[in-house]
Amino acid sequence: MDDPFTVPTRWWHRLDDGRIQCDVCPRACRLHEGQRGLCFVRARVDDQVVLTSYGRSSGFCVDPVEKKPLNHFLPGSAVLSFGTAGCNLACKFCQNWDISKSRDIDTLADAASPQTLAALAERAGCRSVAFTYNDPVIFWEYAADVADACHERGIKAIAVTAGYMNPGPREAFYPHMDAANVDLKAFTEEFYHRTCAAHLADVLDTLRYLRHETDVWFEITTLLIPGRNDCDAEIEAECAWILDNLGPDVPLHFTAFHPDYKMTDVPATPSATLTRARETAVRHGLHYVYTGNVHDTDGGSTFCPGCRRAVVVRDWYRMLRYELTDAGACMNCGTPVAGVYDGPAGHWGARRLPLFVGG
Ligand code: SF4
Repeated sequence: MDDPFTVPTRWWHRLDDGRIQCDVCPRACRLHEGQRGLCFVRARVDDQVVLTSYGRSSGFCVDPVEKKPLNHFLPGSAVLSFGTAGCNLACKFCQNWDISKSRDIDTLADAASPQTLAALAERAGCRSVAFTYNDPVIFWEYAADVADACHERGIKAIAVTAGYMNPGPREAFYPHMDAANVDLKAFTEEFYHRTCAAHLADVLDTLRYLRHETDVWFEITTLLIPGRNDCDAEIEAECAWILDNLGPDVPLHFTAFHPDYKMTDVPATPSATLTRARETAVRHGLHYVYTGNVHDTDGGSTFCPGCRRAVVVRDWYRMLRYELTDAGACMNCGTPVAGVYDGPAGHWGARRLPLFVGG
């Protein structure tokens, strides 16, 4: 507990057998003294569960908000992205495994208080800060404090998450967030169980919670992996569930997998697979469906649900045309396009700018 980056937490309880159970996520790690949870950053120290990465980061970058991906949240604006280390899922296909699977706390090169981070975001001209690269669920106390410090400067907070969190901590965390991108990794329990060591039902719970119990703007991403989660029946089931449970206005991104981590034997996703998935979702009645990680102007563009005109045309993260009013309505027919808008689109473009604390 002498470590300045280690802080006490709530959301744990003592078991009859002497172990302590962390209650932050459904993983329910049961810890003996000195043990770390699966996420690596929460541990049992001095007979309590602590967070060992408060105020530490694996680095900072300024990105377009579209990269999170969020296409309907302050479009074109710059966002300060950062993450810590560890993750509470164990996805074999992890695309950020150097950070999320890090067992080396030295990966956390940069130290930054919430106030320092908020000042950094302001100096860099960011409209938001995003907790990304690894899941903020596991360091949510730090993320919430950073969000509060950012709000004091008029900067918004974004969680990029797999949504694998228990109801109690979830209700403590999301009042600090303005937006989220939730990874819906597949639509079968078998995939979640075998490939991520998690459960689909808990993620669906988080999506319903966000839609019906918060004002958080959120979008969904599904990374399509050839032969693993890309069959027609599964995509149809996912789209039907989203429409029935969340409505047609929650944007859905189908993104391309590239071979990584423990899944190097599977080829990259053909863009035809993404296009087919997008067509399925549109056919089901979802209004805003995108393809990601590929050059596909149609799949990257926002279509007005009223007149069907392409009102925001994108190529990857680059905005080629923007025809929404400052309040987010179609300039052609006046239909509101769902999302969070605050004046004209930003002009950050597709740039990625690494930043250093104090630099
Ligand atoms: S947050 Fe970490 S320690 Fe807590 S239950 Fe989840 S994986 Fe285990």
